[in-house]
Amino acid sequence: MQVYLDNSATTRPSDRVIEAMSQAMREDWYNPSALYRPAMLAQKRVDAVRKDCLSAAGANGQNILFTGCGTEADNIAILGHMRTVKNGRVLISCIEHPGVLRCAQELERLGHRVEFIPVTHAGLVDLEKLEQLLAPDTSMVCVMQVNNETGAIQPIGEIVALRNRLCPGAAIHVDGVQGFLRIPVDFNKTGIQSYALSGHKIHAPKGIGALIYRRDFKISPIMFGGGQENGYRSGTENTPGIIGLGEAVQSYPHDANEWMRNLKKRLWEGLRNAVPQAVLNGPALDSASSAPHILNVSLVPVRSQTMLLALEGDGIYVSAGSACSSKQQKVSGVLTSMGIPTSVADCALRFSLCPDITEEQIDYTVQMVKKQYELLKKFVRR
Ligand code: PLP
Repeated sequence: MQVYLDNSATTRPSDRVIEAMSQAMREDWYNPSALYRPAMLAQKRVDAVRKDCLSAAGANGQNILFTGCGTEADNIAILGHMRTVKNGRVLISCIEHPGVLRCAQELERLGHRVEFIPVTHAGLVDLEKLEQLLAPDTSMVCVMQVNNETGAIQPIGEIVALRNRLCPGAAIHVDGVQGFLRIPVDFNKTGIQSYALSGHKIHAPKGIGALIYRRDFKISPIMFGGGQENGYRSGTENTPGIIGLGEAVQSYPHDANEWMRNLKKRLWEGLRNAVPQAVLNGPALDSASSAPHILNVSLVPVRSQTMLLALEGDGIYVSAGSACSSKQQKVSGVLTSMGIPTSVADCALRFSLCPDITEEQIDYTVQMVKKQYELLKKFVRR
Protein backbone atom coordinates (compact mmCIF):
# COMPACT_ATOMS: atom_id res chain seq x y z
CA MET A 1 0.00 0.00 0.00
CA GLN A 2 1.23 3.53 -0.68
CA VAL A 3 0.20 6.29 1.70
CA TYR A 4 1.09 9.89 0.91
CA LEU A 5 0.85 11.92 4.11
CA ASP A 6 2.93 14.93 3.10
CA ASN A 7 0.18 17.09 1.63
CA SER A 8 1.42 20.19 3.40
CA ALA A 9 4.59 19.94 1.32
CA THR A 10 2.61 19.56 -1.88
CA THR A 11 -0.49 17.80 -3.19
CA ARG A 12 -1.12 15.62 -6.23
CA PRO A 13 -2.84 17.65 -8.94
CA SER A 14 -6.36 16.28 -9.25
CA ASP A 15 -7.54 14.65 -12.49
CA ARG A 16 -10.02 17.48 -13.00
CA VAL A 17 -7.23 20.04 -12.63
CA ILE A 18 -5.01 18.18 -15.09
CA GLU A 19 -7.90 17.97 -17.57
CA ALA A 20 -8.76 21.67 -17.21
CA MET A 21 -5.11 22.61 -17.64
CA SER A 22 -4.52 20.51 -20.72
CA GLN A 23 -7.64 22.00 -22.27
CA ALA A 24 -6.31 25.46 -21.36
CA MET A 25 -2.99 24.67 -23.04
CA ARG A 26 -4.72 23.35 -26.14
CA GLU A 27 -7.33 26.13 -26.43
CA ASP A 28 -6.54 29.08 -24.16
CA TRP A 29 -2.85 29.47 -24.94
CA TYR A 30 -3.22 33.00 -26.34
CA ASN A 31 -1.73 35.96 -24.53
CA PRO A 32 -4.61 37.28 -22.38
CA SER A 33 -3.44 40.86 -22.98
CA ALA A 34 -3.93 40.62 -26.77
CA LEU A 35 -6.96 42.15 -28.43
CA TYR A 36 -8.30 39.41 -30.72
CA ARG A 37 -11.18 37.20 -29.76
CA PRO A 38 -9.44 33.98 -28.59
CA ALA A 39 -7.10 36.06 -26.40
CA MET A 40 -10.04 37.90 -24.91
CA LEU A 41 -11.65 34.56 -24.17
CA ALA A 42 -8.51 33.49 -22.31
CA GLN A 43 -8.69 36.77 -20.37
CA LYS A 44 -12.31 36.02 -19.51
CA ARG A 45 -11.34 32.61 -18.14
CA VAL A 46 -8.58 34.18 -16.04
CA ASP A 47 -11.02 36.76 -14.66
CA ALA A 48 -13.56 34.06 -13.83
CA VAL A 49 -10.88 32.40 -11.65
CA ARG A 50 -10.26 35.72 -9.90
CA LYS A 51 -13.93 35.76 -8.94
CA ASP A 52 -13.88 32.13 -7.78
CA CYS A 53 -10.81 32.68 -5.56
CA LEU A 54 -12.22 35.89 -4.09
CA SER A 55 -15.51 34.23 -3.38
CA ALA A 56 -13.81 31.20 -1.73
CA ALA A 57 -11.99 33.60 0.61
CA GLY A 58 -15.08 35.67 1.39
CA ALA A 59 -13.43 38.56 -0.44
CA ASN A 60 -16.00 39.47 -3.10
CA GLY A 61 -15.32 42.92 -4.49
CA GLN A 62 -11.64 42.98 -3.40
CA ASN A 63 -8.55 42.69 -5.57
CA ILE A 64 -6.53 39.62 -6.43
CA LEU A 65 -3.29 39.24 -8.32
CA PHE A 66 -1.80 35.98 -9.54
CA THR A 67 1.79 35.10 -8.67
CA GLY A 68 4.16 32.20 -9.28
CA CYS A 69 3.78 30.77 -5.76
CA GLY A 70 2.73 31.47 -2.19
CA THR A 71 6.20 32.79 -1.35
CA GLU A 72 5.90 35.43 -4.06
CA ALA A 73 2.46 36.47 -2.82
CA ASP A 74 3.89 36.88 0.71
CA ASN A 75 6.86 38.87 -0.62
CA ILE A 76 4.68 41.20 -2.68
CA ALA A 77 2.40 41.90 0.28
CA ILE A 78 5.17 42.47 2.82
CA LEU A 79 8.00 44.03 0.83
CA GLY A 80 5.61 45.73 -1.62
CA HIS A 81 3.65 47.35 1.19
CA MET A 82 6.69 48.31 3.24
CA ARG A 83 8.19 50.04 0.20
CA THR A 84 5.38 52.56 0.63
CA VAL A 85 6.39 53.25 4.27
CA LYS A 86 9.47 55.07 5.62
CA ASN A 87 11.30 53.84 8.74
CA GLY A 88 8.50 51.47 9.67
CA ARG A 89 8.15 48.80 12.33
CA VAL A 90 7.00 45.31 11.39
CA LEU A 91 5.89 42.52 13.73
CA ILE A 92 6.26 38.97 12.41
CA SER A 93 5.17 35.85 14.27
CA CYS A 94 8.19 33.67 15.01
CA ILE A 95 6.57 30.56 13.49
CA GLU A 96 6.06 31.94 9.97
CA HIS A 97 7.11 30.06 6.87
CA PRO A 98 10.44 31.28 5.41
CA GLY A 99 8.42 33.01 2.65
CA VAL A 100 7.46 35.53 5.35
CA LEU A 101 10.21 35.11 7.93
CA ARG A 102 13.03 35.69 5.48
CA CYS A 103 11.52 39.01 4.43
CA ALA A 104 12.79 40.33 7.77
CA GLN A 105 16.37 40.78 6.58
CA GLU A 106 15.23 42.64 3.48
CA LEU A 107 12.92 44.83 5.56
CA GLU A 108 15.83 45.75 7.80
CA ARG A 109 17.97 46.49 4.75
CA LEU A 110 15.19 48.87 3.64
CA GLY A 111 15.49 50.70 6.97
CA HIS A 112 12.59 49.17 8.89
CA ARG A 113 12.66 47.63 12.36
CA VAL A 114 11.46 44.05 12.68
CA GLU A 115 10.36 42.33 15.87
CA PHE A 116 9.15 38.78 16.33
CA ILE A 117 5.95 37.80 18.09
CA PRO A 118 6.39 34.83 20.48
CA VAL A 119 4.01 31.86 20.56
CA THR A 120 2.54 29.74 23.34
CA HIS A 121 3.40 26.10 24.03
CA ALA A 122 0.50 25.09 21.74
CA GLY A 123 2.04 27.11 18.89
CA LEU A 124 -0.43 30.00 18.93
CA VAL A 125 0.53 33.67 18.77
CA ASP A 126 0.85 34.87 22.36
CA LEU A 127 -1.81 37.57 22.49
CA GLU A 128 -0.54 39.10 25.74
CA LYS A 129 2.94 39.51 24.30
CA LEU A 130 1.49 40.85 21.07
CA GLU A 131 -0.50 43.42 23.01
CA GLN A 132 2.74 44.64 24.57
CA LEU A 133 4.43 44.85 21.18
CA LEU A 134 1.68 46.71 19.31
CA ALA A 135 2.13 50.47 19.40
CA PRO A 136 1.12 53.47 17.28
CA ASP A 137 4.42 53.17 15.37
CA THR A 138 3.59 49.63 14.15
CA SER A 139 3.27 49.63 10.36
CA MET A 140 2.53 45.98 9.65
CA VAL A 141 1.77 42.68 11.39
CA CYS A 142 2.35 39.33 9.67
CA VAL A 143 0.69 36.21 11.07
CA MET A 144 -0.15 33.02 9.21
CA GLN A 145 -3.63 31.47 9.18
CA VAL A 146 -2.49 27.88 9.87
CA ASN A 147 1.00 26.81 10.83
CA ASN A 148 2.46 24.41 8.29
CA GLU A 149 4.25 22.24 10.86
CA THR A 150 1.75 21.95 13.70
CA GLY A 151 -1.63 22.80 12.13
CA ALA A 152 -2.21 25.51 14.75
CA ILE A 153 -4.93 27.90 13.59
CA GLN A 154 -3.84 31.39 14.59
CA PRO A 155 -6.22 33.76 16.40
CA ILE A 156 -6.58 36.21 13.51
CA GLY A 157 -9.83 37.72 14.84
CA GLU A 158 -8.21 38.60 18.18
CA ILE A 159 -5.12 39.96 16.44
CA VAL A 160 -7.28 42.25 14.29
CA ALA A 161 -9.15 43.45 17.39
CA LEU A 162 -5.85 44.31 19.13
CA ARG A 163 -4.61 46.09 16.03
CA ASN A 164 -7.85 48.08 15.79
CA ARG A 165 -7.48 49.18 19.41
CA LEU A 166 -3.74 49.87 19.58
CA CYS A 167 -2.55 50.80 16.09
CA PRO A 168 -5.45 51.10 13.63
CA GLY A 169 -3.13 52.28 10.86
CA ALA A 170 -1.10 49.04 10.79
CA ALA A 171 -1.70 46.60 7.93
CA ILE A 172 -2.18 42.89 8.64
CA HIS A 173 -0.89 40.31 6.18
CA VAL A 174 -2.05 36.72 6.58
CA ASP A 175 -0.24 33.84 4.89
CA GLY A 176 -3.18 31.59 4.08
CA VAL A 177 -1.20 28.96 2.17
CA GLN A 178 -2.07 26.15 4.61
CA GLY A 179 -5.50 27.48 5.47
CA PHE A 180 -7.19 28.42 2.19
CA LEU A 181 -10.25 26.17 1.58
CA ARG A 182 -9.49 24.09 4.69
CA ILE A 183 -10.30 26.76 7.27
CA PRO A 184 -13.06 29.25 6.53
CA VAL A 185 -11.84 32.77 5.87
CA ASP A 186 -14.15 35.72 5.63
CA PHE A 187 -11.74 38.29 4.23
CA ASN A 188 -14.30 41.09 3.97
CA LYS A 189 -15.29 40.72 7.61
CA THR A 190 -11.86 40.02 9.15
CA GLY A 191 -10.32 43.44 8.66
CA ILE A 192 -7.02 42.04 7.37
CA GLN A 193 -5.35 43.80 4.44
CA SER A 194 -3.91 40.92 2.44
CA TYR A 195 -4.05 37.13 2.18
CA ALA A 196 -1.66 34.82 0.30
CA LEU A 197 -2.51 31.42 -1.15
CA SER A 198 -0.76 28.75 -3.21
CA GLY A 199 -2.12 26.34 -5.84
CA HIS A 200 0.04 23.30 -5.19
CA LYS A 201 -1.26 22.89 -1.63
CA ILE A 202 -4.83 22.39 -2.86
CA HIS A 203 -4.40 19.95 -5.78
CA ALA A 204 -3.61 22.64 -8.38
CA PRO A 205 -0.13 22.64 -9.94
CA LYS A 206 3.07 24.25 -8.73
CA GLY A 207 3.84 27.63 -10.27
CA ILE A 208 0.63 29.42 -9.33
CA GLY A 209 -0.23 31.45 -6.26
CA ALA A 210 -2.30 34.53 -5.54
CA LEU A 211 -2.50 37.55 -3.29
CA ILE A 212 -5.90 38.84 -2.24
CA TYR A 213 -5.73 42.44 -1.07
CA ARG A 214 -8.02 45.23 -0.03
CA ARG A 215 -8.70 47.94 -2.55
CA ASP A 216 -7.03 50.54 -0.34
CA PHE A 217 -3.98 48.41 0.57
CA LYS A 218 -0.89 50.21 -0.70
CA ILE A 219 1.66 48.17 -2.63
CA SER A 220 4.69 49.34 -4.56
CA PRO A 221 5.72 46.72 -7.17
CA ILE A 222 8.79 44.60 -6.53
CA MET A 223 8.90 43.38 -10.15
CA PHE A 224 8.91 45.56 -13.26
CA GLY A 225 7.87 44.89 -16.82
CA GLY A 226 4.73 44.81 -18.94
CA GLY A 227 2.43 46.00 -16.16
CA GLN A 228 0.18 42.93 -15.89
CA GLU A 229 -1.87 42.40 -12.71
CA ASN A 230 -2.48 46.12 -12.24
CA GLY A 231 1.27 46.71 -12.50
CA TYR A 232 1.93 44.73 -9.32
CA ARG A 233 3.17 41.56 -10.97
CA SER A 234 4.51 42.02 -14.47
CA GLY A 235 4.91 38.98 -16.72
CA THR A 236 2.51 37.22 -19.06
CA GLU A 237 -0.14 35.43 -17.03
CA ASN A 238 0.27 31.69 -16.42
CA THR A 239 -3.10 30.92 -18.02
CA PRO A 240 -3.02 27.10 -17.58
CA GLY A 241 -1.87 27.46 -13.95
CA ILE A 242 -4.59 30.00 -13.23
CA ILE A 243 -7.24 27.81 -14.83
CA GLY A 244 -5.90 24.82 -12.85
CA LEU A 245 -6.19 26.87 -9.66
CA GLY A 246 -9.76 27.80 -10.57
CA GLU A 247 -10.67 24.14 -11.10
CA ALA A 248 -9.07 23.17 -7.78
CA VAL A 249 -11.11 25.82 -5.98
CA GLN A 250 -14.35 24.83 -7.70
CA SER A 251 -13.93 21.11 -7.16
CA TYR A 252 -12.71 21.19 -3.54
CA PRO A 253 -15.15 18.80 -1.78
CA HIS A 254 -17.36 20.53 0.79
CA ASP A 255 -17.27 17.65 3.25
CA ALA A 256 -13.48 17.17 3.00
CA ASN A 257 -12.55 19.06 6.13
CA GLU A 258 -14.86 17.04 8.38
CA TRP A 259 -13.55 13.84 6.80
CA MET A 260 -9.92 14.84 7.35
CA ARG A 261 -10.62 15.95 10.91
CA ASN A 262 -12.07 12.51 11.75
CA LEU A 263 -9.14 10.73 10.15
CA LYS A 264 -6.62 12.97 11.90
CA LYS A 265 -8.28 11.98 15.18
CA ARG A 266 -8.19 8.30 14.21
CA LEU A 267 -4.49 8.65 13.38
CA TRP A 268 -3.61 10.40 16.64
CA GLU A 269 -5.57 7.92 18.75
CA GLY A 270 -3.97 5.02 16.89
CA LEU A 271 -0.48 6.44 17.35
CA ARG A 272 -1.05 7.19 21.00
CA ASN A 273 -2.17 3.62 21.66
CA ALA A 274 0.67 2.17 19.61
CA VAL A 275 3.36 4.38 21.15
CA PRO A 276 2.62 5.43 24.72
CA GLN A 277 5.55 7.92 24.63
CA ALA A 278 4.01 9.75 21.64
CA VAL A 279 3.85 13.50 22.23
CA LEU A 280 1.45 15.78 20.38
CA ASN A 281 3.11 18.99 19.19
CA GLY A 282 0.49 21.70 18.71
CA PRO A 283 -3.03 22.42 19.92
CA ALA A 284 -5.20 19.64 21.41
CA LEU A 285 -7.24 17.96 18.70
CA ASP A 286 -10.56 18.92 20.25
CA SER A 287 -9.63 22.61 20.47
CA ALA A 288 -10.92 25.11 17.94
CA SER A 289 -7.30 25.93 17.06
CA SER A 290 -6.50 22.54 15.55
CA ALA A 291 -6.61 22.40 11.73
CA PRO A 292 -8.19 19.29 10.19
CA HIS A 293 -5.26 18.22 8.05
CA ILE A 294 -1.96 18.52 9.97
CA LEU A 295 -0.79 16.32 12.85
CA ASN A 296 2.65 16.73 14.43
CA VAL A 297 3.77 13.95 16.74
CA SER A 298 7.09 13.11 18.39
CA LEU A 299 7.68 9.37 18.69
CA VAL A 300 10.27 9.70 21.44
CA PRO A 301 13.05 8.46 21.46
CA VAL A 302 13.16 7.55 17.73
CA ARG A 303 14.55 10.43 15.69
CA SER A 304 12.46 11.85 12.85
CA GLN A 305 14.89 11.04 10.06
CA THR A 306 15.22 7.43 11.16
CA MET A 307 11.48 6.90 11.40
CA LEU A 308 10.63 8.63 8.14
CA LEU A 309 13.15 6.56 6.18
CA ALA A 310 11.86 3.38 7.81
CA LEU A 311 8.27 4.33 6.93
CA GLU A 312 9.29 5.01 3.36
CA GLY A 313 10.26 1.34 3.18
CA ASP A 314 6.62 0.54 4.00
CA GLY A 315 5.33 2.91 1.29
CA ILE A 316 4.41 5.71 3.71
CA TYR A 317 5.60 9.23 2.97
CA VAL A 318 5.68 11.74 5.82
CA SER A 319 8.00 14.58 6.72
CA ALA A 320 9.98 15.84 9.65
CA GLY A 321 8.51 19.31 9.86
CA SER A 322 8.31 21.54 6.82
CA ALA A 323 9.55 20.40 3.43
CA CYS A 324 11.89 23.40 3.28
CA SER A 325 13.70 22.52 6.49
CA SER A 326 13.60 18.73 6.33
CA LYS A 327 16.64 18.44 4.03
CA GLN A 328 18.68 20.62 6.36
CA GLN A 329 18.30 18.08 9.19
CA LYS A 330 18.15 20.71 11.88
CA VAL A 331 15.71 21.00 14.72
CA SER A 332 12.54 22.82 13.75
CA GLY A 333 12.59 26.51 14.69
CA VAL A 334 8.80 26.35 15.03
CA LEU A 335 8.89 23.60 17.66
CA THR A 336 11.80 25.24 19.46
CA SER A 337 9.96 28.54 19.70
CA MET A 338 7.02 26.67 21.27
CA GLY A 339 9.38 25.67 24.08
CA ILE A 340 9.53 22.00 23.04
CA PRO A 341 12.80 20.44 24.23
CA THR A 342 15.29 19.43 21.54
CA SER A 343 15.05 15.78 22.61
CA VAL A 344 11.34 15.84 21.69
CA ALA A 345 11.55 18.17 18.66
CA ASP A 346 14.24 15.88 17.22
CA CYS A 347 11.67 13.08 17.02
CA ALA A 348 8.85 15.09 15.39
CA LEU A 349 6.96 13.75 12.39
CA ARG A 350 4.40 15.72 10.43
CA PHE A 351 1.49 13.80 8.95
CA SER A 352 -0.53 15.97 6.58
CA LEU A 353 -3.78 14.75 5.07
CA CYS A 354 -5.78 15.50 1.94
CA PRO A 355 -9.44 14.82 1.14
CA ASP A 356 -8.63 11.53 -0.69
CA ILE A 357 -7.09 9.79 2.29
CA THR A 358 -8.88 6.62 3.44
CA GLU A 359 -9.45 4.90 6.80
CA GLU A 360 -7.51 1.88 5.53
CA GLN A 361 -4.50 4.07 4.80
CA ILE A 362 -4.63 5.60 8.27
CA ASP A 363 -4.92 2.20 9.96
CA TYR A 364 -2.04 0.83 7.86
CA THR A 365 0.09 3.86 8.84
CA VAL A 366 -0.58 3.23 12.54
CA GLN A 367 0.35 -0.45 12.16
CA MET A 368 3.59 0.36 10.36
CA VAL A 369 4.56 3.07 12.86
CA LYS A 370 4.01 0.57 15.67
CA LYS A 371 6.12 -2.06 13.90
CA GLN A 372 8.96 0.35 13.15
CA TYR A 373 8.85 1.94 16.58
CA GLU A 374 9.20 -1.42 18.36
CA LEU A 375 12.20 -2.19 16.18
CA LEU A 376 13.92 1.19 16.16
CA LYS A 377 13.60 2.11 19.82
CA LYS A 378 16.01 -0.75 20.64
CA PHE A 379 18.77 0.99 18.72
CA VAL A 380 18.48 4.37 20.41
CA ARG A 381 21.57 5.27 22.45
CA ARG A 382 20.69 6.10 26.04
N1 PLP B 1 3.46 29.62 3.53
C1 PLP B 1 3.22 28.44 4.11
C2 PLP B 1 2.51 28.41 5.42
C3 PLP B 1 3.63 27.26 3.51
O1 PLP B 1 3.39 26.09 4.10
C4 PLP B 1 4.31 27.32 2.26
C5 PLP B 1 4.80 26.11 1.60
O2 PLP B 1 5.11 25.12 2.24
C6 PLP B 1 4.51 28.60 1.69
C7 PLP B 1 4.08 29.72 2.36
C8 PLP B 1 5.19 28.75 0.37
O3 PLP B 1 4.36 28.37 -0.68
P1 PLP B 1 4.99 28.11 -2.11
O4 PLP B 1 5.66 26.78 -2.05
O5 PLP B 1 3.83 28.13 -3.05
O6 PLP B 1 5.93 29.22 -2.36
